[in-house]
Amino acid sequence: MAEKLLEINNLHVEYKTDEAVVYAVNGLDLTVNRGETIGLVGETGAGKTTTALSIMRLLPERIGYIKDGSIKLENKDIIRATEADMRLIRGESVSMIFQDPMTSLNPILTVGEQISEVLELHKKNMSKAEKSKRVDEILELVGLPALRKKDYPHQFSGGMKQRVVIAIALACEPKLLLADEPTTALDVTIQAQVLEMMKDLKEKINTAMILITHDLGIVAQTCDRVAIMYAGEIIEIGTAEDIFEGKDHHPYTVGLFGSIPDMKKTSKRLSPIEGLMPDPTNLPDGCKFHDRCPKCMEICKTKNPDVFLEGMHSIKCHLYSLN
Ligand code: SF4
Repeated sequence: MAEKLLEINNLHVEYKTDEAVVYAVNGLDLTVNRGETIGLVGETGAGKTTTALSIMRLLPERIGYIKDGSIKLENKDIIRATEADMRLIRGESVSMIFQDPMTSLNPILTVGEQISEVLELHKKNMSKAEKSKRVDEILELVGLPALRKKDYPHQFSGGMKQRVVIAIALACEPKLLLADEPTTALDVTIQAQVLEMMKDLKEKINTAMILITHDLGIVAQTCDRVAIMYAGEIIEIGTAEDIFEGKDHHPYTVGLFGSIPDMKKTSKRLSPIEGLMPDPTNLPDGCKFHDRCPKCMEICKTKNPDVFLEGMHSIKCHLYSLN
């Protein structure tokens, strides 16, 4: 049986400004098993990055906070961990690759020094020579020659910088990797190389991964399971097969697939989802998708739908709970 690595229950995350409270994540449940890759998919503002920042406990200070729920990594309560504990957990148990490699690296340190920093913090027993050897190994693992460790970030191309960022994230072989749009800033050919490399690395060191993206093509190539997020909730989750091949879907998932060109069909226009995501400071009653949903019923406007579960596939929609 698959061993649970991360367990999130009923997570609520808010951002408080002088003007309003933003309800960014609203009762999210998610389990990630060891070695598993989960795709977290949804529009901008769906709460994907906020979920990842909550796992890292890196929400913006003073305005972002976890209002309710629990996050357990290897049964350790992340929400109640001290800041000193979190410094050890970050990098060693869980690492994050941020969206933009250009701003994730320190311009005044060589890439070797930046990889060494992580080892300094987490591998205190390693000698200087061992650390240097590890830097060489990790650079070669991500497809960069070890002798480039003496170079500075500006001496690398965008794709190479992203490889360095991945090398830093993987230096201590974390059990969980949070990859937030890791290839968005890269061109398509480099994107394919970086994804292939991440897949290989994952197999080599059995790291579990939450891959945050709005690109369903990337998800299809890399993920074991897929969670679709909307307005801070997971509205559908299942194996990649359930999501890409199954016949039952949440109307929002149907809309997402309708927005992608199908190479096998001739069509003049795509069918985008009409309307916009609800204002997160003023979420509607009932189903949060109801004012955009072509299948909306009266009950959807007032009652939050239950989760309909079949095997590993779950959908949060009245259409299924009424069956
Ligand atoms: Fe549409 Fe109702 Fe299902 Fe929401 S609960 S997705 S409004 S059918």
